[in-house]
Amino acid sequence: MILNLEKLKPGRNEFWRTYSAAELGLGKGRDFTLNSDVETHIVAIKSKNNVKLTLEASYTLRLTCSRCLEEFDRKFDEKVTYYLKAGKEEVIEEKSLAEEDIFTMYYATEELDIKPLVREIIILSVPMKPLCKPDCKGLCPVCGVNWNYETCEHMHQKTEIDARWKKLLEISTKLK
Ligand SMILES: [Zn+2]
Ligand SMILES: [Zn+2]
Repeated sequence: MILNLEKLKPGRNEFWRTYSAAELGLGKGRDFTLNSDVETHIVAIKSKNNVKLTLEASYTLRLTCSRCLEEFDRKFDEKVTYYLKAGKEEVIEEKSLAEEDIFTMYYATEELDIKPLVREIIILSVPMKPLCKPDCKGLCPVCGVNWNYETCEHMHQKTEIDARWKKLLEISTKLK
């Protein structure tokens, strides 16, 4: 969707747009899969010298748990605010230090493409270490059993293994 900033009426302008994963180029082949359409809600408030643009995006990502390696779906509702100011040659983006995600953007032309902004919001929302649930027990490092579903004889040997490693470490230190 191209927003023509010149043609916006003063005050509040509101738009809704749905993007498909294919349209955004965010199908498979990354560390996440966009597993739904992206519903966006755009509010552009035009005043004399700038446009305050609030972009809300709702979508579902299929992620891989960093502990148990199982895939899971998570719903995201992201909201980013941009302050658009006219009068610069290039488009510059600046993230503020505020807790809220606020970007100041300068635009050379009056046309603003919303699609790259939606894409960026999605990519930035992907967690560094996704967890299927906060208390995911992970995989056994010895036999690979998923501790969320199964138990194995190594579950209670953790301290024992640690102790053995400690012994090895002591020996290797002595050898130095
Ligand atoms: Zn997990
Ligand atoms: Zn095990």
